[in-house]
Amino acid sequence: MHAIAKNIACISARIRELEKLYARAENSVKLLAVSKQQPSEKIQQAIAAGQRSFGENYLQEALSKMAVIMDSSVEWHFIGRVQRNKAVSIAEHFSWVHSVTSLDIAKRLSHASLNKALSLNICIQVNIDDEPTKAGVLPNKVITLARELVTLPKLRLRGLMAIPKPNKTKKSQYAAFYKVAQLQAELLAAGVELDTLSMGMSADYDMAIKAGSTLVRIGTNIFGQREG
Ligand SMILES: *Cc1c(COP(=O)(O)O)cnc(C)c1O
Repeated sequence: MHAIAKNIACISARIRELEKLYARAENSVKLLAVSKQQPSEKIQQAIAAGQRSFGENYLQEALSKMAVIMDSSVEWHFIGRVQRNKAVSIAEHFSWVHSVTSLDIAKRLSHASLNKALSLNICIQVNIDDEPTKAGVLPNKVITLARELVTLPKLRLRGLMAIPKPNKTKKSQYAAFYKVAQLQAELLAAGVELDTLSMGMSADYDMAIKAGSTLVRIGTNIFGQREG
């Protein structure tokens, strides 16, 4: 078996184990393969191994790989910073945007999706540790933004995405993810329908699943170190 196929099988098995361990429903956690700064050959190997959802951070890089791969069964997720002038193209080429951080960006994505058959799935990126240099909406601003986003046509608000700062201990990793899960619970209690918690990466997905993640974004553990 090829290394990438092996990695995907291994991580998928680990996700099923963690679901059991933390009393999560079977298959409630989806694996997003983060292919940024990885060549299209590696993506093709992952596709051959049955992986269908891929995450990309940079529009130009993603477009050139999509042009090579040209596989309509692949679901592309945009997980990087959305530049205002790229929003139209992002809406055209991706099924999901995990990194919506403002009403302005959401309006652009909504407008660009008007003539598409399917709604664009979006998540609000939360700056859960209130880090000045990190993208994302501050936790206390999330409910207001969510209420605005659900009124926009052709967008489907699916949930929250977060990248907590690196935490050394399992306990502090869990605490950060738990804050995101609590925020999601507040939104649900406020009547906003959501089904996605996009959190957990190679180094910390176990604690993310413990806290309620429904989608882990894994790059390095699938594809190895990134190029450049
Ligand atoms: C790069 C990236 C990942 C994957 O990180 P790994 O540590 O390689 O698993 C996940 N989410 C986002 C938003 C990223 O930018």
